[in-house]
Amino acid sequence: MLNFDELEKGFTEEEAIAEARRCLKCKNPLCVRGCPIENRIPQIVQAIEERDYRKAIDIINENSNLAIICARVCPHNDQCEGACVLGRKGEPIKISKLERFLAEKEMELALNRLRGKVAVIGSGPAGLSVAAILAKLNYRVTIFEAQQKAGGVLRYGIPEYRLPFHVVDKQIEIVRNLGVRLETGVVIGEDLTLDQLFAMGYQAIFIGTGTGLSRKLGVEGESLNGAMQAIYFLETVSLIRDGSLPDRPYPVQKGDRVLVVGAGNVAVDAARTALRLGAATVNAVDIVPEAERRAGDKEFGEALHEGVNFTFNTSIVKILGDRKVEGAVLQEFVRKPNGRESVIVPVPGTEREITCDKVIVAIGQKPFARIVSTTTGIKTNDKGYVITSTEPFYGMTTREGVFAAGDVVHEPQTVILAMREGRKVAEAIDAWVQERTLKAI
Ligand code: SF4
Repeated sequence: MLNFDELEKGFTEEEAIAEARRCLKCKNPLCVRGCPIENRIPQIVQAIEERDYRKAIDIINENSNLAIICARVCPHNDQCEGACVLGRKGEPIKISKLERFLAEKEMELALNRLRGKVAVIGSGPAGLSVAAILAKLNYRVTIFEAQQKAGGVLRYGIPEYRLPFHVVDKQIEIVRNLGVRLETGVVIGEDLTLDQLFAMGYQAIFIGTGTGLSRKLGVEGESLNGAMQAIYFLETVSLIRDGSLPDRPYPVQKGDRVLVVGAGNVAVDAARTALRLGAATVNAVDIVPEAERRAGDKEFGEALHEGVNFTFNTSIVKILGDRKVEGAVLQEFVRKPNGRESVIVPVPGTEREITCDKVIVAIGQKPFARIVSTTTGIKTNDKGYVITSTEPFYGMTTREGVFAAGDVVHEPQTVILAMREGRKVAEAIDAWVQERTLKAI
């Protein structure tokens, strides 16, 4: 049966050099006259004979940008090869096969120019930043993202009214245009382990998975329907809005009375998102005094303006309800000196009940243990954050070749700080891979 495999095989290196040696390097080369674009064939052939392929390719590229195609489809018999002086009494120089040899050499050289292969886990600000910097340094970078769409906290943590999806999409497109590959729907730690990534040829791995787990309140009623973590709430709303969960109802419905626990940036985002979903009231409580509020002034001011009601020095001590949330018990708290430090303690007798339909908890996050628990050698601190070094390779974890930065390493911070840190880690990854490459030579 006929097949579509390419008929003619290319030259090996030794065959190409032997063929180049046959060429007379004519002073008045008939081959050049036969070439419609007047390629400087004798000089190209001379460079091949000297194994200076870069020079040969540069000469060919003076006139041709499609050498790999021309080598196969040009009618060489009627052009350069047909004109070759050696063809008068014997075999002309196989210029087409030499051209093809060079074109394939050029691809090989281009591959060799790659500085290495790096896997990036997570497509949030730290992951995108590291991937873009490494791609510009000529690394082959693949980002592995657990969700079906890339962006991490940019898409699923920051509400759409602050960061529209189309802006996130544009940023990801810019990174992809740098040559970065994106594998979505791949959960590292479940679908692939770090050991498997190393076995696939990745020389370094960057973990930028952020903080996907919310801290729990530890109060009665936390598992009732209608009590939820802020990260889950924000992510679910974004998944519904970007079409990933088309049939899921919003976790806050029109008319709901919502209680948010916390007054940091995530709490404020959750409160403002609840208002946009039509909540009748949104109250937020925070255990610390207002002077210690973690939310930025701008976001806090906008939340106040939109109607979020904040109460400080107050927290939740119980969630009320049968199967679903019906209310909560709040209590006042006060900061008291305790030796050289201070502690926040409840004020006895200040408990009060409020009615609510939803409780959204935003008292902090910590990283998933998924990656760390499926590999060896990566240590975390007692809060679950990945431990990294600053010297000699900034951001390297306790396992060689595995780096981490962003919220997976420390308390959540701003996007710009995650990007700044990403740059330092990308430079360290480059230094690490190059040092290993030199040692291997
Ligand atoms: Fe070489 Fe033939 Fe060209 Fe002369 S005409 S330079 S022998 S390829």
